[in-house]
Amino acid sequence: MTETEPDGRKLHISEQPFTLGNWHKHVNWVNTSLILIVPFFGCIAAFYTELRAATAAWAILYYFWTGLGITAGYHRLWAHRSYEAGLPLRIFLACVGGGAVQGSVRWWSAKHRAHHRWTDTVKDPYSVMKGVWYSHFMWMVLKQNPKNRGRTDISDLNEDPIVIWQHRNYGIVILVFGMLFPMVVAGLGWGDWKGGLIYAGILRFLFVQQATFCVNSLAHWLGEQPFDDRNSPRDHVVTALVTLGEGYHNFHHEFPSDYRNAIEWWQYDPTKWSIWVWKQLGLATNLKQFRANEIEKGRVQQLQKKIDQKRAKLDWGVPLEQLPVVDWDDFIAEAQSGKALVAIAGVVHDVTDFIKEHPGGKTLISSAVGKDATAIFNGGVYSHSNAAHNLLSTMRVGVIRGGGEVEIWRKSEKQMSSQYT
Ligand SMILES: [Zn+2]
Ligand SMILES: [Zn+2]
Repeated sequence: MTETEPDGRKLHISEQPFTLGNWHKHVNWVNTSLILIVPFFGCIAAFYTELRAATAAWAILYYFWTGLGITAGYHRLWAHRSYEAGLPLRIFLACVGGGAVQGSVRWWSAKHRAHHRWTDTVKDPYSVMKGVWYSHFMWMVLKQNPKNRGRTDISDLNEDPIVIWQHRNYGIVILVFGMLFPMVVAGLGWGDWKGGLIYAGILRFLFVQQATFCVNSLAHWLGEQPFDDRNSPRDHVVTALVTLGEGYHNFHHEFPSDYRNAIEWWQYDPTKWSIWVWKQLGLATNLKQFRANEIEKGRVQQLQKKIDQKRAKLDWGVPLEQLPVVDWDDFIAEAQSGKALVAIAGVVHDVTDFIKEHPGGKTLISSAVGKDATAIFNGGVYSHSNAAHNLLSTMRVGVIRGGGEVEIWRKSEKQMSSQYT
């Protein structure tokens, strides 16, 4: 296989097929170590390490802190600017978010902004169109073609000293907050250094990583689309439970700068609850929220779209503008020649096949043949149901010139003309 294009440009590794000789060049080894190799050895070590109750409780607590570092920090604060945080909260979120071992705030937010800007296209860094496993983690395991990079504006992130500090010292941040800090707490707290490293450190970040990855895979694959179905994001309670509330992803892609993902009080969104508590404590300000009116508009439009699609599948009869226009006398002539035609509201209906099935009996409907039965149909004899109106419209065969013929006028016209002749 040639490694250059006809114009002499060297092909990027991602453009070359996998071979026994080059597969290792396809792999991004830094990412793969952090999300697969280290967690793999952590799982093996767990078989040989006793899990103590205090360490388990600490691992779960630290799971929530580091998870919130990603959801409330990386995602809703830095990637979407859905609220503002003071210095102490920003330092806390940058540290515990770093402890989730998912890249620096700057790297993560740039990718996430590209994901929103280019959703489901080649420039979406974790496009679910390339497969659910690709969007979950393979996009990090394999080297990506720089040609497909979706560029976004991150000038605001470059002005945040906490973001810059964390980006420059990212190696130290993951070492300290990913492993050393959880180990030291368990070690100094109750003497469980090894358990602290394995359970509160490595296994805990494995779980946080997999939970976050579910936002890119599961939330674009499982659930409902109440606000817009043109792209892949979906809402599902299972994804919300796994991701600290990031599972209302259809809403989130529509209203990305809203600090909430779940808009109903009973939906599970601990990230939203935390931001709200931080606001009460004076740590967060300017929580952004779309107006309920705008949210409802999106919901109603999507409902309407679904209804229109259902409606289009049903037989509503030939549209009036496509029906032939017939003269009243031609209508009478055709009815007399044996076709069971009935005029109702200016429209001719062929009821030949329906006479036998008419719920009101054969006689009544037969008596309307060759006549204008508008009044009879609409209450003169019986006010027909909506279902009857629908059924009638499927029997339309023509429109009467001039819009209709009312028997009484026609009769008086005849009488008048007979008087003068
Ligand atoms: Zn998404
Ligand atoms: Zn987002």
